[in-house]
Amino acid sequence: MEWEENVRKVTPYIPGEQPKQQDVIKLNTNECPYAPAPGVWKIAKSFDYGKLRLYPDTDAKKLADALCEYFHIGQEQLFIGIGSDDVLAMAFLTFFNSQKPILFPDITYSFYDVWAELFRIPYEQKKLDEKFQVVKEDYKKENGGIVIPNPNAPTGVWEKIEVIEEIVAANPGSVVIIDEAYVDFGGESCRRLIDKYENLLVVQTFSKSRAMAGLRIGFAMGSSKLIRYLKDAKFSFNSYTMNMLSVELGTEAVRDEKYFKETVKKIINTRERVKKELLNMGFVFPDSMGNFIFASHPGFPAKKLFEELKRRNIYVRYWEKPRIDNYLRITVGTDEEMDILLSNLRDIMEK
Ligand code: PMP
Repeated sequence: MEWEENVRKVTPYIPGEQPKQQDVIKLNTNECPYAPAPGVWKIAKSFDYGKLRLYPDTDAKKLADALCEYFHIGQEQLFIGIGSDDVLAMAFLTFFNSQKPILFPDITYSFYDVWAELFRIPYEQKKLDEKFQVVKEDYKKENGGIVIPNPNAPTGVWEKIEVIEEIVAANPGSVVIIDEAYVDFGGESCRRLIDKYENLLVVQTFSKSRAMAGLRIGFAMGSSKLIRYLKDAKFSFNSYTMNMLSVELGTEAVRDEKYFKETVKKIINTRERVKKELLNMGFVFPDSMGNFIFASHPGFPAKKLFEELKRRNIYVRYWEKPRIDNYLRITVGTDEEMDILLSNLRDIMEK
């Protein structure tokens, strides 16, 4: 059909499976295995649902205030979106508008090339080294922008802030986005650099460490200039950043720092224990600073393990892609869930 020639075509991102049945062990989309903070439940119960007839606050001011206080930043340095996917998509649309290619790693979050394709942004994927680390010299060439997740996904590999700063400092002519979706699990945020570098945008989410993937809250921190441009684009698209309930519940999640820290600590402890167990079983993996482990076994094809685990109602993530087609990305669940995973892996490998 003729009209089809003008369709904005894109091969969509494929998210991890959300199985319909209840009795699965779900370790495939890096969700938090623990519930949101108790205060969040309380607010949800006492929320005046009659208010939903009104439009929400365009600035999500209450949540913005809580985040600014928590991170010691000004309102003009904060942008809020519907999950960090929304924040990242808006940032791609706003800042990546050059004929020169944007740069990101060859093994990384598989939404980046989808947004580049959707917005017609030329891109180049820079090969990570054999340890899955960023080769910083690759990001010191002409480019139309840079995006790097730190820690990276699905590898879990963490780059030191000095490496990130070197890349940001070497690129005053383009915007550098650091996607910190997993930063709370042992890494360190580079947000302290936003006062120093006008071209740095740091993106975070409530979906992992704050146990709120279902509410869809993400945010970015950056110079007032970057944030202004981002808001201009966002408000030309949809003037409501966040629904009322998410504002209320998100605010409460930020306020309960104690619960947040306890939850993160539990996940890190489980991750470190599981790392040891996987090593004993012969798995190899880059040292992960995320809430997941990217593991490969020299003696057992990952695809087979993935399929057999799924048959047993244990969901992990697998990609049939170059360089990573023998790896499983295993989200860190509760200790009980991980014990079931480990005993099933042992069982599969013995047979
Ligand atoms: N960045 C990375 C690296 C991710 O893995 C994810 C989770 N799929 C996101 C961003 C988006 O998370 P959310 O939209 O739930 O904030």
